[in-house]
Amino acid sequence: MNGEPLLTVTDLTVRYGGVVAVDNVSLTVPTGKIVGLIGPNGAGKTTLVDALTGFVRCSGTVSFRGVRIDRLRAHLRARHGIARTFQAGGIFDDLTVRENILIGERRPGGWWSTVRAIVTGRGEHARPETRALVGTLGLGDLLGVQASELSSGQRKLVSVAQALAGGPELVLLDEPAAGLDSTESAWLGERLRAVRDSGVTMLLVDHDMELVVNVCDEIVVLDFGKVIAAGEPQETLAQPQVITAYLGSVTAATEGDAA
Ligand code: ATP
Repeated sequence: MNGEPLLTVTDLTVRYGGVVAVDNVSLTVPTGKIVGLIGPNGAGKTTLVDALTGFVRCSGTVSFRGVRIDRLRAHLRARHGIARTFQAGGIFDDLTVRENILIGERRPGGWWSTVRAIVTGRGEHARPETRALVGTLGLGDLLGVQASELSSGQRKLVSVAQALAGGPELVLLDEPAAGLDSTESAWLGERLRAVRDSGVTMLLVDHDMELVVNVCDEIVVLDFGKVIAAGEPQETLAQPQVITAYLGSVTAATEGDAA
């Protein structure tokens, strides 16, 4: 039900050798909401997404709809209804937009049946839900276009569509607005809200503060792997420890440039 916890993370820690990339993080993603996960470079955002989706080992607990999933491998978490995008996109240049989106569908015959359908051209029809999704994301005119021909904004949208094509309840978006100009980013934000309104819950990692403020129902701020603030976007961004974390990262970058 809307507002009830869908994903609950408790005391999650990820270590890479001596580096504690995610440090005792606890957070909740409520059903039907978009939660933003922000923080300066190196704060641990991608590592947290990797831990939630089973791509790195972690300690602590992760529950989805009240069921522990933190010991499940990545593909089993996907079967529970969790999808993600990758910073690099995850799009195949040699395939069309339609084929790239179909790859994200979960078919009764598994991933191999999708590949066979694409290779043979038989039975490669999208499910009605996928067709609706293509409409929501405004990709209808691009379905026959080869992915290598797409702009970076269009590629990002296709990767979002690919993640959503499996019909997940929760999707984790890792920097979907990276490389987009402000008009494309605003448009992406509108589309993400439409997707949320269709019933998909989201955890959104991005550095584009305008997108985060306009789209997210609440945000969680990480710095050096720890949660330093959480709550309503505008109020949370105005908190002194958040401003200090971002100013600190700007100062460090400026000093690095000067060195
Ligand atoms: P960005 O905004 O730049 O993408 P981020 O908030 O996603 O950064 P992470 O990429 O999760 O941050 O990195 C968190 C910390 O873990 C950083 O100190 C980073 O150097 C370190 N780290 C990330 N991946 C690895 C790895 N595979 N091995 C060792 N250290 C890593």
